[in-house]
Amino acid sequence: YHAKKKGNSYLFFNDTMNRQAVKRLQIENLMRFGLKEDHFEVYYQPKMNIRTGKFTGMEALVRFITPKKGIISPGVFIPIAEETGQIIEIGEVVLNKSCRDVKEWLDAGLFNGRVAVNLSAKQFSLPDLTTRIDVILQKNELPSYFLELEITEGTVMDDPQDAISIMRSLSARGIHLAMDDFGTGYSSLAYLKQFPLNTLKVDKAFIDDMKTERGRNMVDSIVTIAHNLDLHVVAEGVEQADQITILKELNCETMQGYYYSKPLSKAEFTVFLEKQQSESALSLVHQA
Ligand code: C2E
Ligand code: MG
Ligand code: MG
Ligand code: MG
Repeated sequence: YHAKKKGNSYLFFNDTMNRQAVKRLQIENLMRFGLKEDHFEVYYQPKMNIRTGKFTGMEALVRFITPKKGIISPGVFIPIAEETGQIIEIGEVVLNKSCRDVKEWLDAGLFNGRVAVNLSAKQFSLPDLTTRIDVILQKNELPSYFLELEITEGTVMDDPQDAISIMRSLSARGIHLAMDDFGTGYSSLAYLKQFPLNTLKVDKAFIDDMKTERGRNMVDSIVTIAHNLDLHVVAEGVEQADQITILKELNCETMQGYYYSKPLSKAEFTVFLEKQQSESALSLVHQA
């Protein structure tokens, strides 16, 4: 038995797995170094009101910019950071920089909406989560009104009752809560009703699927359920004009995607905000 088990585990640890383990370790080390050297930056992707075509807010998305390996995608490093626990420190950097940037734009009179920051499951279940968030908001002199947190179904369905009380304490501070990637995880409608959410973000997979009638019906149903629960709907990953036409018909109010803008660096986003401001000033002149 012993020999067989030993033999199996040896067979299991083949070359591919070995290479994967090495790569993971490399990324873990890069992240440790990156945290020390400030290699994590925040990009911002604007969201647009579908009815008016106007800019309404943005999502903060982390970028790991390494001097040697270039930009490493969140899809690659976030799952590893989740496992090693480094996501807690990375998440804190993102939250801090997002609040700092929004405060700057607010003071410059360029923005007065919310920034949506992704919160990982590990962060969400920290016993002192609300204190940590309060500290970051205070440090940056940013009222909680300007913050929205995006969480996924997996994060809240692990222990729904506990999640409800955490969400309530965030919500009581005026922080908005969004359910991210809705439809890709598992969550029950019974809980969806109980969670103190403000926004439901329909995953890109459903938006892509609107090419078919069944796919459109699906998004139609999701939007209807969301509206019945008084939730605001954001369509994720909108890339084409005809998707916007359909979303408008389905009464989805907000969109985010490459069609409107890709995620922008802080400098690029500042230029974007300045352009927004001059455009709205121009439209006021035309109205007068
Ligand atoms: P997400 O929160 O669902 O973010 C949306 C992702 O879709 C972003 O990928 C964004 O760049 C991408 N996207 C937006 N519009 C389009 C489009 O029209 N087409 C396509 N193909 N993609 C689009 P990104 O920045 O690579 O982030 C991937 C995921 O990594 C995020 O998905 C989120 O789950 C996670 N993530 C990103 N930043 C953070 C963070 O600061 N903390 C945590 N915990 N997770 C983060
Ligand atoms: Mg998100
Ligand atoms: Mg999402
Ligand atoms: Mg998504």
